[in-house]
Parts: sequence; structure tokens; C-alpha cells
Amino acid sequence: MKSVGVLGGGLAGLSLACLLAQRGHTVTVYERDRAGGKLRRAAAGGLTFDTGPSLFTFPEVWRTLLARLGETDPLDLRPLPGGLGTQHTPFGAVPLPVPPGHPLFGEWQRYVAGVAPLRPHLLALLTTPPCLTSPGFLRASRVLAGVLRGHLSAEGWVAAHGFSPALAHALRTQALGSGLPPQDAPALYALLPGLLGAEVYRPARGMGAVLDALLAFARARGVVLREASEVTRLDDLLLDGLQLDGLRLTLADGSQVRHDLVVSALDPARLAQLRGRPAPSPLARRTVSGLALYFALPEESGLPATSVLPPSDFAVFRRALHAGELPPDTLTLVHAEGRKLAVLLTVPALPRDLEPGHPWVQAQLRRVQAVTGGPDLGRGAAVTALGPLHYAAGGHPGGAIYGAAAPLWRSGPFHPQPYRLGPGLWQVGTGVHPGGGLPAIFGGALIVDRLMAGPS
Ligand SMILES: Cc1cc2nc3c(=O)[nH]c(=O)nc-3n(C[C@H](O)[C@H](O)[C@H](O)COP(=O)(O)OP(=O)(O)OC[C@H]3O[C@@H](n4cnc5c(N)ncnc54)[C@H](O)[C@@H]3O)c2cc1C
Repeated sequence: MKSVGVLGGGLAGLSLACLLAQRGHTVTVYERDRAGGKLRRAAAGGLTFDTGPSLFTFPEVWRTLLARLGETDPLDLRPLPGGLGTQHTPFGAVPLPVPPGHPLFGEWQRYVAGVAPLRPHLLALLTTPPCLTSPGFLRASRVLAGVLRGHLSAEGWVAAHGFSPALAHALRTQALGSGLPPQDAPALYALLPGLLGAEVYRPARGMGAVLDALLAFARARGVVLREASEVTRLDDLLLDGLQLDGLRLTLADGSQVRHDLVVSALDPARLAQLRGRPAPSPLARRTVSGLALYFALPEESGLPATSVLPPSDFAVFRRALHAGELPPDTLTLVHAEGRKLAVLLTVPALPRDLEPGHPWVQAQLRRVQAVTGGPDLGRGAAVTALGPLHYAAGGHPGGAIYGAAAPLWRSGPFHPQPYRLGPGLWQVGTGVHPGGGLPAIFGGALIVDRLMAGPS
């Protein structure tokens, strides 16, 4: 059994730490701040908000993680009313999934039937190491290739299907879940609304329950969690200048620790810095950043659980993001629960402050009020704001939520993923599965756990 150091106590690092400790390894997690990474708790106006992820999707991946740990599910997942929410497109409101009786229902059913063959294979794609000798992986890849029909981008796939403008706009909007405009997003993201249907969940006690569960699993397996322990350097230790004899972590307080194996659950640009390697070019294309505003309202908003305000013109939106400018109207997600309201504004990944009082932010909030008929968010509500600087502090420079954008040919499962970076050094998290959200984070941990265990 080995001593393993895990860099980063976000959901990826914690998931893998649990799996490795389950196999009997001695595991220490080093976290520069508090455990949870992008998922944490913030307070405003006497209410507590779970910040970061808000939609829990593809729970089969979470259940696979639980099965490998031999745990029962503590989350009590509840379907989120309204699924992915209403998309307020310039061509009319489109609820996803489109319900029976809606004018777009027939078209929606055709779309769902087209992507349905992939549904039974998603779990394999998300949890199986890409391997050309694995029959399950090959079957899943063949079906995916059949559904994609050679289209690499979400835009290409949507445009080729001749959907009505309203449904096409709603699907392009959902492709933004990859952190990229639909022209740059992998085609798979245009299929997700059809694959998800109404299967969008939240734990009964909020998303923070996911973090609580992982922390409890880690404690029960003897994982040592070292919070406020920033790693500042990572070096190979060589015997006779040749053979690897473990890796050495240097911490911010100057202390040093040796581990047999190290797993990075950090953004790859951060890891490169720790290893003294050149960081990827700051001009490399990045996924988007966000400004998340959490409002404690004086009374309930009366809004549905999820409303989505897409950019009205994707070409304008993309040009603005590429130029590092604030788009005139941006992708905006609104999550409502009682007196709590979260507004997530999409912004380019540049390390700059964006205060709630900024004129652009105020204009986006007026748009939310005008489109949803919700409360005036300019006044009277306590607000906590997390912007690009917050996401940059523990993640990718510039605060790109899903890190650097991979080229389209490298997206999806058809290429080798950089799970193993060198002797004794492995990688999980958004660096391996950009744009994946929680299912890819848990799936990536399951894959790396398998690979680290070696051939079975
Ligand atoms: C606003 C927002 C909304 C989202 N919505 C959804 C959603 O609805 N559904 C969904 O599935 N996903 C969503 N996501 C994505 C999801 O939250 C992330 O994919 C996931 O939390 C990433 O986890 P991670 O462990 O890979 O990275 P992180 O959470 O970034 O963890 C990395 C950790 O490493 C630590 N660290 C960094 N440098 C060092 C160092 N030198 N030494 C020690 N520790 C270090 C950081 O402090 C951090 O805790 C959302 C994300 C955001 C920001």
C-alpha cells in the first residue's frame, strides 16, 4: 500500500481520495483554503447559500461511486421542478424538457428520439477508461459517433438538424454548459437536454450535502485533510539521478512531505507552475468565467426553480468572449428557492473585479427582472458576489470555470486523456474533463482509481 498526496480538496480530489483510501492507501489531501473548491457555503442576509454547482445530473455516476465505496446514498436527491428550466429565447419561451401540449412538443420528441440510442451508453462513456480493447467503450463510442454524424461542434450539429429557431436557440444555449459558445462547444453538449430529459436533481438539503457526504466518506476511511495547506512546489525524487523514489511536496510554510504517488486535482496551469514547467500561454482559449450573485430577498420571489436567459445573438456573444469583452446580453441562469435567489452571469475569463454595482451588472439584472417578471434586484436585497477573481484564486488564471478550452477534435471520449502525467503523478478534475460538471468529475475519479489500481 502506498502513501498518496492529493493536491486540492475540491470534489474531484475528495472523491479520488475516498476511492484510494478504500483500496487501503494512506491518503493526505492538501487544500490551500477550505475543502469544497467551487462548491462551498456563503452567507447573505441571514441565509446560507450553496455556491457553485446547482444542478445534479446523471446520478448513475454518483451511484457508481457509492457502489465502489460500499456506501448507501445519503443525498436524498429530489427532482428539480421544471427540469432544466425555461429558456427565454428571442423566439419565445422554451421549457426544457418541452412538456406535452406545448407547440414544440412534437419537434422535441423527434429530437429526443434521435439522441436516445446514446442514453444506455452514457454511464460507460463517463466512467470507463478510454480503451480500444474495451468492448463497452467501443460500443458506446460507435453509438456516439452514429448520433454525432461527423459534427464536431454543437453549432454544427444543431444547424444540420433544421430545428425551429426557438428550439435551436434553446439547444445552443444548453451547449453553453460546456463553458464555450455553441460554435466552440463539443457537439455532445447539444445532445444533453435530450439525454437528461427531466432528470435534473438537487439533494434535499442542498448541494452542500454532496460535500458533506464526501467529507464523511473520507473521514471514515482515515483520509487526512489538511486545509489551509497550499502546495507551492512539486518535485520528483530520484534515486541515483534516474529511478523515481517518490515525489516531494513543498508547502507554503516551507515544510516538505514525501509521497509515493501524487494526484493533482488542480487546474493544469497551476500544476505546471508547481512543477516549474512553462504555464500554457495566457492567450490560449479559455472557457468562460462567471459572476455569481446570491440574493437574500425580503420575501419569496415567486419565480420557477430555474430560468435561463440566453444571449440573444450567439455570434455577437462569441465575438465579445473572444475579445475579452462583456457581451451586451449574456447567458444568465436564475435559480430561485424561497427567499433565496442566485443569478449567474457569464463573463469572459479575465482576472478582474466585477462589483454588483457595475453598470453592466445592473443592466443584466434589469434584464432578468424584465424577462422573468421577478423582483427588482437593484435594491433592498442582501447580496454576496463571487466573480472571476474568486474563481481564479483556487482555479484557472482568469477564473475560467472549466479551465482552458480543448480543441474540438480533443473533446469527448475519442482521444487519450491526460490521466497519468508521468511516473507517480496522476490527474483528475476539470483539467482532464473540461466542461464536464459533477458527472465528469466523479466519472474521472472512478476512471483514475481504476487506472491507478492497474490491470485487474
Ligand atoms: C458558478 C458555477 C456553477 C456551476 N454549476 C454546475 C452545475 O449546475 N452542475 C454541475 O454538475 N457542475 C456545475 N459547476 C461545475 C462544478 O462545480 C465543478 O466542475 C467542480 O466543482 C470542480 O471540482 P474540482 O475538484 O475539479 O475543482 P475545484 O473545485 O476548483 O477544486 C480545486 C481545489 O484545489 C485547491 N487548490 C488550488 N491550488 C492549490 C494548491 N497550490 N495547493 C492546495 N490546494 C490548491 C483549490 O482551493 C480548490 O479547492 C459549476 C461551477 C461553477 C463555478
